[in-house]
Order: sequence, then C-alpha cells, then structure tokens
Amino acid sequence: MSQETGQARQGLLERLAQGPVICAEGYLFELERRGYLQAGAFVPLVVLEYPDLVAQLHREFVHAGSDVVEAFTYYAHREKLRLIGREGDLEAMNTHALTIAKEVASETGSLLAGNVCNTNVFVPDGTQAKATVRAMFEEQVAWAAQAGADFVIAETISWGEEALIALDVIKSAGLAAVVTLAIHREPETREGWSPAEACRRLEDAGADVVGLNCSRGPRTMLPLLQMIRGSVQVPMAALPVPYRTTSEQPSFQSLRDPEGDEATDGIPFPTALDPFTCTRHELARFAATAVAMGIDYLGACCGAGPHHVRAMAEALGRTPPASQYSADMTKHAFMGTDASITAEQKDYAARL
Ligand SMILES: [Zn+2]
Repeated sequence: MSQETGQARQGLLERLAQGPVICAEGYLFELERRGYLQAGAFVPLVVLEYPDLVAQLHREFVHAGSDVVEAFTYYAHREKLRLIGREGDLEAMNTHALTIAKEVASETGSLLAGNVCNTNVFVPDGTQAKATVRAMFEEQVAWAAQAGADFVIAETISWGEEALIALDVIKSAGLAAVVTLAIHREPETREGWSPAEACRRLEDAGADVVGLNCSRGPRTMLPLLQMIRGSVQVPMAALPVPYRTTSEQPSFQSLRDPEGDEATDGIPFPTALDPFTCTRHELARFAATAVAMGIDYLGACCGAGPHHVRAMAEALGRTPPASQYSADMTKHAFMGTDASITAEQKDYAARL
C-alpha cells in the first residue's frame, strides 16, 4: 500500500530539501524499442492500446530508483494528435496516462508528476499562436491537477518564452513546476537566450526547479549546467540523453555514424543510436558530478533504461530494490575471484 498512511505525504519541495530526487524519463524510446510505439510522430497511443505495459515500465523505473512516476502524456497534446488524426482521443489519452501513473505512484509511494512539452506551434511574434500554446498547456495541466499530480514537468522546450507560458499555466493551477529546456546544437534557446539567462527568467517567474533535459548527452550538457548553476538559486534539474555526444556533435540529433549504412544515411537519430549509448557507469559518473555541482533533480531522457536509472541511484549512495541484482562478477565462471572457481577456469579468462 501507499506510504501515505501514518505520515504526511511529502511533496517534491520537501523531498528536495532532504536531498536529490531522481526522475526517470525516456518512456518514448523505451516503448519504441519494445515494439509498442512508433518512431517519428512519437505519440504515446500505447497508454490506450497497452496500458499494462506503461504501468509495468513505470514500476521498472521505480524499482530501479526513480522517486517520481511521470505520467506518459509527452506529445499527447492537441497538435500532435491533429497530426496523426487522433484529436478525438486527446482527453482519453491524458486521463488514462494519469490514471496509470497515479496507480503506480500510490502503490510505490512515489511522487506523481504531470507532464507537458514543446507544442511545436509556438512562434515568437504570433499572438494567436501564443494563445493556442497557452490553451494546449491549460487543458493538459487541468487534467494533471484533477488527477492529483504532486507537480507538473514542462520539458524539452527550446523556446524560452514558450517555457515561460507553460510555467505560468502550471503555477496558475496551484502546482509546483519543474521546467527543463532542451538545448540543441547551438548553446542557446531558439530566441537566442543563453541557458543561464533562460533559467534565471524561469526562476524569476516562479519555477520551483529549472534545468535541462533531452537532446544533449552527459558530456555536452555538463558545461551548460555549470553555467546555469552559477546563475540561479532554486533547485536544478539535469536529465541528459544517455548518448555519447561530442563538442562537434553536441545533440543526439546531430550525431553522425561513419559506419552508418543506407538505412539511415549515417544519421543515427532516432532508430540507430545504439552504438552511441552511454554505459550505466557513465550515467553514474554523470550523477555524481551533477550532485557535486549542486544539482538536486536527476534523471535521464530518451534512450534511458532502468539500468541507467539504477546506476544513477547507486551513485547517490542508494540501494533501490533493483540493486539486489547489481553485478557481482566474483561469481563469474571465468573472471570470478571466488575461491571455488578452479585455476584452470580463471586462467582461461584471458583467452575469452
Ligand atoms: Zn528525451
């Protein structure tokens, strides 16, 4: 049963006051890999078609150390559903996703997060477009509020001003807001604000947590996080994609694979990123570095699996239930050090 019984349930800010919070993301890519979601439109119809699988993935991420169950409403917004001709399913997708997430959050004592993201209709000088963006956020945030979300995440937004609209809608609904920007190749928002300036504006406008998610891997997100940390006072979020991005190819969309074939034209995003995947140990190092930098809200985005989340949790000194199965190579048939493994077996290790 829920951990709510017997003690007052703590919200996001209370938990952050006690130490880092982990929030697993990456539902789109994980369910795409498993064969239940289509790359391209990346719309989470799976919440209607295979709700049990979504609940299972929520459980796997909590098992691996996530403190948050994020409702899978990413891209379940009016513009995306218009694009695939499913606008009539908008409310059902959102309310189903929230119900699934709420069930897992309450059975595990995790925080329940609502979610909004880039609308893909924002234009900087369009009054009508901004009204449309606001209305899209309002309907999704209202469903999250009705579901009893502890807070709402506004994520992967690359227009600073669009993020400010999302923030205003979340705060107007009386909820805590985690706002994370996606910074692509150029180290700035689409209107040209530095990440530090954008996060400072979000802080000034009342964001509870500000930071970055998606697009950049650990290596190319860290320098931006450092600059933001020096500019804001509120808790900071960092949720990179688990890919080996570089200074020449700083985002996972800009990665190029010299060994890529005609199937992808050498552009690994989004279905051929496998050879660029970070190990769990790299994500653990990222978590340790980020925490040392004063970042409190950690996770990983598109491409992440439960093994990445577990490694991040363990880097923070935790032992989530999945740690029961963390590697123990002492018992390996050849590489093991256990006294009962024969010398003949151990000697063969070098020839494997
Ligand atoms: Zn992502």
